[in-house]
Amino acid sequence: MAFSGRFSLADHAGKAARTAPADTVAAPKVFINTGFENASPMNWDTDAEGRVIGSLIYDHERFAQNRANNHWHFQVEAQTGTDVTIILQNFDNIWNNTHASPISKQSPVVVSFDNKTWETRPAEFLPDNRLQIKLKMSGPSVYIASIEPYRISDLDRFLARIKNNKLVKVSRIGQTSEGRSLEIITIGNEKATKKLFLRGRAHAFEAGGNWTLEGFVDRLLQNDAEARKWLKRYCVYILPMANKDGVARGKTRFNANGYDLNRKWDKPADSLVAPENFYLEKWLRMMVSTNRKPDLALDVHNDNGGNLHVSRPDGDIKKYLMNMAKLDSLLRKHTWFTEGSTRPGFRNPGTLGEGFMERFGIEAAVYELNYEWVEGLKKAPVAKDWLLLGSQLPNVFYEYFEEKPGR
Ligand SMILES: [Zn+2]
Repeated sequence: MAFSGRFSLADHAGKAARTAPADTVAAPKVFINTGFENASPMNWDTDAEGRVIGSLIYDHERFAQNRANNHWHFQVEAQTGTDVTIILQNFDNIWNNTHASPISKQSPVVVSFDNKTWETRPAEFLPDNRLQIKLKMSGPSVYIASIEPYRISDLDRFLARIKNNKLVKVSRIGQTSEGRSLEIITIGNEKATKKLFLRGRAHAFEAGGNWTLEGFVDRLLQNDAEARKWLKRYCVYILPMANKDGVARGKTRFNANGYDLNRKWDKPADSLVAPENFYLEKWLRMMVSTNRKPDLALDVHNDNGGNLHVSRPDGDIKKYLMNMAKLDSLLRKHTWFTEGSTRPGFRNPGTLGEGFMERFGIEAAVYELNYEWVEGLKKAPVAKDWLLLGSQLPNVFYEYFEEKPGR
């Protein structure tokens, strides 16, 4: 909810002045609204020059020193024509017990004056890990974010749009710790030769995965000759938004209990601390026990590298590595992906990729989408770039699942 037009900030300040003693505070010319879905929690103030200083609230991990701030999403209200300067701070993140700031000279900022059309804007990296955003108000309010938002309400609209399609089945598999439903979207015929599993939004700020999954599903549902050909070969299962509680609250990474949903996959998930993983594991065991084990699983993320992270579990993984090389080359052939796979030798036993392989015997990897810069498109990405990627993926999986005759 926004307050613009209800009462003026000047009136409000006038009342405060009558009751406050000596040191009254000048009314700011702007208001920062964080009272909406997926807004990032922050404290804010204005300095002597009228600049807004926004202190983001860290997202803390339980049982670890780690803390993260990659997400900013708020609404600025000010008179049309006003020049607004916003300085964001608290990017002193801690990752794997070391300091690691997420912002760089390439940190993206996206803005929208109508909350529908988003465009990228330059931001300035300031000393002491701060980010400065300057803009002129071309309307009474503007939304500013780190990445074009994809909220639970966007997912709900998407599900409502596709759920009556005869190729779609939406099943509730459990709930988040705050009681939001976790669903699996099944696309196509389960009797198809191959099965693909995709998970999106394990980390709350990483909206790019959701846009990509939506583009993928929309292309599969076009019901043209190509789409029918793809779905004859493979059926798709998608958990589109694992960390709904984090998305609702505008958090960066962890679930409502401070749990990282892409860690600790080497052991069964706790049903109370990590119900989002617990119910996914329960569903997976059901799939395995009913002879419907996925042939490939990808966990879709955002970072500032954009690589395909190949798993490195112990044991003989020659065939898996060959498959990942094939996936890498098909992504390059059919999509704007150019970044490549992480180098051999990297072992990260807690990720979904390695947990799926070691505990469920499912070939799996983590697919990161670069949210700062897409080299294949030479631009900072917005939703339409990920929707495009999603629409290019059906052919990738069609050729990935190709069975060579005689094998
Ligand atoms: Zn992630």
